[in-house]
Amino acid sequence: MSAYSLVIEETIISSQKARPFWESKSLAEMSSKEWESLCDGCAKCCLHKLEDEDSGEIFYTRVVCSYLDQEKCNCTVYNKRQQLVPDCVILTPENLDDLSWMPGTCAYRLLHEGKSLPVWHPLISGSRNAMIAADITVTGKVVSEEFIHEDGLEEHIIDWANGQD
Ligand code: SF4
Ligand code: SF4
Repeated sequence: MSAYSLVIEETIISSQKARPFWESKSLAEMSSKEWESLCDGCAKCCLHKLEDEDSGEIFYTRVVCSYLDQEKCNCTVYNKRQQLVPDCVILTPENLDDLSWMPGTCAYRLLHEGKSLPVWHPLISGSRNAMIAADITVTGKVVSEEFIHEDGLEEHIIDWANGQD
């Protein structure tokens, strides 16, 4: 190998090393810690959604699961969430094929679609401050399902949850 080829190879290896895991690994290749860190904690996936039976289109509502701590955007029953809320979807590398219903800002959906993480994502900005400033979380914009009758969900359809901004 010539000295020139060696330099090129070293440059490629070093640039690969410099790339963060969400750019250098597929979702399936990530460790569980890396996988968990992709979740920005926006809690938009905890919102109730309605599906148009004819078109299959998904509509988000501002009605949120009663187990969500709306201020912190934390699930208060995280370890029991599937038992308590059968509809609560736990994302894994195995069930990523149909993520079209996930919010457009969700890191799992973005990476699955070959897109980049947004600049406000905590992995890039280093904290949740940028995403809070970008108004990505549900805090202050939602109402608990405890106060809404199931038949009235349609009245609470919103257009901010699926945006990609
Ligand atoms: S929508 Fe995606 S990023 Fe937001 S809380 Fe749910 S899984 Fe995490
Ligand atoms: S159980 Fe927890 S994670 Fe699941 S929808 Fe409710 S608040 Fe969200």
